[in-house]
Amino acid sequence: MNPTKETILFDDALTLWGKEFQIMMAIEEMAELMQKLSHYLRKNRKVKYTEIASEIADVQIMMRQLIQIFCILDIVNQQEALKLNKLQQYIEKAKRGESADSSQS
Ligand SMILES: [Mg+2]
Repeated sequence: MNPTKETILFDDALTLWGKEFQIMMAIEEMAELMQKLSHYLRKNRKVKYTEIASEIADVQIMMRQLIQIFCILDIVNQQEALKLNKLQQYIEKAKRGESADSSQS
């Protein structure tokens, strides 16, 4: 597979700052998104959607970096498909009134 512009960019970040630092950045970006969503709920929805979008973008970028760092794209895609299927099953069950359990892990 040819490296894309993004994989080259992420490799550069990894070379410059290292694996541990990039993992820490992923954790921090997830925390920022958590805080923004918490503010959204706590402050009566008075958070701009652009602020939430910005934090989601940060997290998405860091998630793709983690996938690259650990070389786990195939496993992530496989897990995502399984979990989406599970979610669909929960929804179908809930619609039939069989269960209210929405934990999707
Ligand atoms: Mg952020």
